[in-house]
Amino acid sequence: MLVLVLNSGSSSVKFNLFDMTNERPLLEGMAERIGVDGAFHWTAGAEQDQRDLPLPNHESALLEVMELVSRRIPKGRCINVVGHRVVHGGPKYGESVLVTDEVLADIEAYSLYAPLHNPANALGIRAALHTFPDIPHIAVFDTAFHHTIPDYARTYGIPYELSQKYGIRRYGFHGSSHAWVAARTAILLARPLRSLKLITCHIGNGTSVCAVLHGHSMDTSMGMTPLQGVIMGTRCGTLDPSIVDLLIEKEHLNYQAITELLNKKSGLLGISGVSSDFREIEAAADQGNERAILARDLLTYDVRKFIGSYSAVLDGVDAITFTAGIGSNSPRLRAEVCSHLGYLGVDLDVEANRSAGGERLISLPGSKVAVAVVPTNEELMIAREAVR
Ligand code: ADP
Repeated sequence: MLVLVLNSGSSSVKFNLFDMTNERPLLEGMAERIGVDGAFHWTAGAEQDQRDLPLPNHESALLEVMELVSRRIPKGRCINVVGHRVVHGGPKYGESVLVTDEVLADIEAYSLYAPLHNPANALGIRAALHTFPDIPHIAVFDTAFHHTIPDYARTYGIPYELSQKYGIRRYGFHGSSHAWVAARTAILLARPLRSLKLITCHIGNGTSVCAVLHGHSMDTSMGMTPLQGVIMGTRCGTLDPSIVDLLIEKEHLNYQAITELLNKKSGLLGISGVSSDFREIEAAADQGNERAILARDLLTYDVRKFIGSYSAVLDGVDAITFTAGIGSNSPRLRAEVCSHLGYLGVDLDVEANRSAGGERLISLPGSKVAVAVVPTNEELMIAREAVR
């Protein structure tokens, strides 16, 4: 079976093609700057190509994808199913679903909770339905994995009727990533997932930490939207809501400006004034830039704080796993986070942590709590969901 995985943003579409007979990636790439000037690049094993070409809309981008795929797939085979990454599935979707008119309308309606993501996801799905009309399309939601979070961990302290009326609650995100990482960690530990208490730390441009009990999400740091929790590249993370009142009043900001400030100008970028990119933060911190040091330390502190609280939520923890751009690639961040977790029984293997490599354990054999690095694979997870 061949599965095309699409991840549509407002001006980009990332695509991956998997042969699910052996879960092999055949092709991956991205159409960028859609509606601006247009660029298209892809890799397939050792081959790759990169071109500027006009991409006035998502449909023109997907036509390029279709043309490329038809050139690259083995003769006689065709795409059997398209899996779409959808950020918000609202209160309704605790599982992946076949895209219907109703599902698409719901995805658009849930733009209320993910205004920066769901409109673009829906736009991409509409274009894909048009470009690939004869095959099933599956929506795979970032929020679905977190439907198991108990009510006391997902309810906000506002009048209950309002929460009910508007679906205001913690939804959580990065579900495909946390699910993948938890499953791989169980394999690394050679223990059944259903017996494990895990804390998975997805630390990238967007960051979320998740408490996974026996394979199910029990709590996660992101909330109704992907803005809550740990500070991120440009997102503020958890704030005292009164800060918003103060900024609106003193800076004369309207709703749009405050949304822009909290989503695009805050986090590592806002604190450091250097960059949202953690490599640049680390480099500036190494040169003594005090605000870069503060941004780095705050990210580390936030992650450690969630690990501490989730070890209480889970009543102990068997393993802590790091993933995503920063979690998989910054030994220093991992070492800093783990440096205050001795009380939990974390004993980091300094050499294993420092050495490059993919999926692996980075704790010493006697460590009471294992520590692992598992590069995420959201695309394959979405492909598996589409097949399922
Ligand atoms: P996204 O959430 O967009 O998928 P990624 O998971 O790709 O983001 O993470 C991007 C982040 O990972 C950036 O802040 C980048 O600086 C950081 N990163 C990538 N490689 C490294 C590295 N070798 N060391 C430290 N940080 C890294």
